[in-house]
Amino acid sequence: MIIHMVEGATDEQTDRVIDRIVGDYGLQCQTMVGAGSIVIGVKGMAGIVDEGRVTELPGVDRVIRITEKYKDASRNFHHEDTIINVNGTLVGGSNLTIFGGPCAIETEEQAVESAVLARDAGVDILRAFVDKSRTSPYDYRGLEISRGLEIVKAMKAATGLPVVCELIDLRHLDAFLEAGIDVVQIGARSAQYSPLLEELSRIRTPVVLKHGFGNDLNEWLCAAAYIMSGLDREGRHTGEGNPNVILCYRGIRSFESETRFAADISMIPVVRGKSHLPLIADPSHSSGDRGLVERVSYGFVAAGANGLEFDIHCNPEEALCDGRQAVREEAGRIVSRARQIHDLLAEDGVAGGVAGGVAAAAAVSK
Ligand code: PEP
Ligand code: MN
Repeated sequence: MIIHMVEGATDEQTDRVIDRIVGDYGLQCQTMVGAGSIVIGVKGMAGIVDEGRVTELPGVDRVIRITEKYKDASRNFHHEDTIINVNGTLVGGSNLTIFGGPCAIETEEQAVESAVLARDAGVDILRAFVDKSRTSPYDYRGLEISRGLEIVKAMKAATGLPVVCELIDLRHLDAFLEAGIDVVQIGARSAQYSPLLEELSRIRTPVVLKHGFGNDLNEWLCAAAYIMSGLDREGRHTGEGNPNVILCYRGIRSFESETRFAADISMIPVVRGKSHLPLIADPSHSSGDRGLVERVSYGFVAAGANGLEFDIHCNPEEALCDGRQAVREEAGRIVSRARQIHDLLAEDGVAGGVAGGVAAAAAVSK
């Protein structure tokens, strides 16, 4: 972090800034005096400094941040790819891991039939969503939770696959874990809800973390850092934090109405460059259209995603939720071609981009 003082700033003003950095954050400062102005360089983990508390001090012109605010999720602090073990299934590194299944559990028959279809297509981790966060309260929002969790168990028994399930309500976490949910997903609508994120920092269960419709990379990775750091509001460690975060890119809102959301393929290598966490991508919720899911999947994989998550339904025309973006017979081809594309490009690595003058990441996919 670099702090520029205004021209003519007094020694008292400069000392006050230094006192704040040293006193509040325990960091070291180095002062440089140039032609008419003073520059203070902050040494150490400046990611913990709240720049608003520095900018407001008299005599400060501007604060330039060099380190990110999402330390635990940043590749600068953890250079190697993180690989997460979901009960024997690896996510991250050189693995391509496919998450798939129905958008929502509707009935036992629909859920189990869709689950078997997904397993036969080559899916590694099954979507088994009991609770749906929907935009409108009049839309299908899932079964009563305990009934939904019974069906999750039936899906696991029928396929032998680990399952991912979205957590919307903190009160359901214990029931999810007791029912054997292997991965907890945080959806776009709750992606920055810190009480939920903090609660997940107290367990070790892997978490798929999406970003909100309008979140940028910094906001998304800061949400990941909430789960990973295990810090409470006083900055105390409440435990070790939960290192098992899997990022899921799902597209953002744009002015374009031809697709449901706008999927920016170039975000895949950018995010992989900035973060060591596994990154999967969701071609169903980003495109909103079954006819687009296949090609968008290949695009994500070619761009360097560590996996995909997409909707597979045994009868998409009758689905109660998001049937339009669910595939059925195409699923097997998508999984096998995605794996071919991944293998073809495995040696190439993923450049992380140089936006903002940050050095490109090392090749990460070996
Ligand atoms: C989902 O995965 O079912 C979902 C609702 O996606 P998102 O949170 O990305 O909208
Ligand atoms: Mn959906």
